Amino acid sequence: MSDAHTHGQHSFETLAIHAGQPADPATGAVVTPIYQVSTFKQDGVGGLRGGYEYSRSANPTRTALEENLAALEGGRRGLAFASGLAAEDCLLRTLLRPGDHVVIPNDAYGGTFRLFSKVAENWGVRWSVADTTDPAAVRAEVRPQTKAIWVETPSNPLLGITDIAALAEVARATGVRLVVDNTFASPYLQQPLALGADVVVHSTTKYMGGHSDVVGGALVTTDAELGERLAYHQNAMGAIAGPFDAWLVMRGVKTLAVRMDRHSANAARIAEMLTAHPKVTQVYYPGLPEHPGHEVAAKQMRAFGGMISFRVAGGEEAALRVCDRAELFTLGESLGGVESLIEHPGRMTHASVAGSALEVPADLVRLSVGIEAVDDLLADLTEALA
Ligand SMILES: *Cc1c(COP(=O)(O)O)cnc(C)c1O
Repeated sequence: MSDAHTHGQHSFETLAIHAGQPADPATGAVVTPIYQVSTFKQDGVGGLRGGYEYSRSANPTRTALEENLAALEGGRRGLAFASGLAAEDCLLRTLLRPGDHVVIPNDAYGGTFRLFSKVAENWGVRWSVADTTDPAAVRAEVRPQTKAIWVETPSNPLLGITDIAALAEVARATGVRLVVDNTFASPYLQQPLALGADVVVHSTTKYMGGHSDVVGGALVTTDAELGERLAYHQNAMGAIAGPFDAWLVMRGVKTLAVRMDRHSANAARIAEMLTAHPKVTQVYYPGLPEHPGHEVAAKQMRAFGGMISFRVAGGEEAALRVCDRAELFTLGESLGGVESLIEHPGRMTHASVAGSALEVPADLVRLSVGIEAVDDLLADLTEALA
């Protein structure tokens, strides 16, 4: 794929708007069109225009997004999928064979844990859980069969911070790949490949799309050979991002930098308010100086993001009441959109980890802080906690 338009010398904000997206060669349209098409006319058998033959293999709208994602993460190859889990599935089936082993975090997205424990396991893939905030604990789980270390930072829902560079050293020393799920931070706040990771995973459904109107996923890697194998599997398995979904993600990414600045600023104010609130027993936000991962987060992130979790005095019932009473914070799963969301991980996003090593506290509430006026958000939470 041509990277003539990735503008390697430009800053993130500029790349977000322009990388992979030259004006349309046919019409001059300044926004990449939605090529809502399945097949392409060939100029004689095998005479492809720009390499396009069938949209599962490649589609110009998806290509624009894939080149954009590669540029934003500083990788050599980006691939866009139908969902974050489709991206993860493609990565697992490309990297792993029966008998192989992966170290996964003790605080992973519930769907990622389910993919390992309920699906990959049936195909002979082994996994074990480690506290990835402790590089020695991860090192202790690496076996001769281990092919990858899987990391989420900040993690979901407890906002744990893993030192990516430290784990990249563990991965290099043991000859395994380091995979980082960068969904919570986005490449604007954190660039795992520059810190030594081999593959970045995204649910573009979240901050990348940013408007709660699309489900999508992505993989980005620095390794061109692995990128080729992933692209082969993407085509062979077929869970691609459709043209309109790719276009929606691209449209979202153009404003990623300004949105993440505002998400982070709003979340910092709300974390401060919650910390001082008598009905809140603990606040998980990496921007707080007392957060155990604060120093590592300050080192590897540009700002601390828009996700906050907190525990409510009075247990599960009190936590559920806060979720019910909030109004501006909409009760719902997912995260990363412009609108603020509230949820109860134990009953909602993380119900699939109940009874496992990844179980979350019952009195936990998770916020995805949106970009509304922060005073309105503070008032809504104060009312919900009253
Ligand atoms: C949502 C999410 C996923 C899964 O992505 P989908 O787009 O829902 O398939 C993976 N990892 C994290 C951290 C997520 O928040």
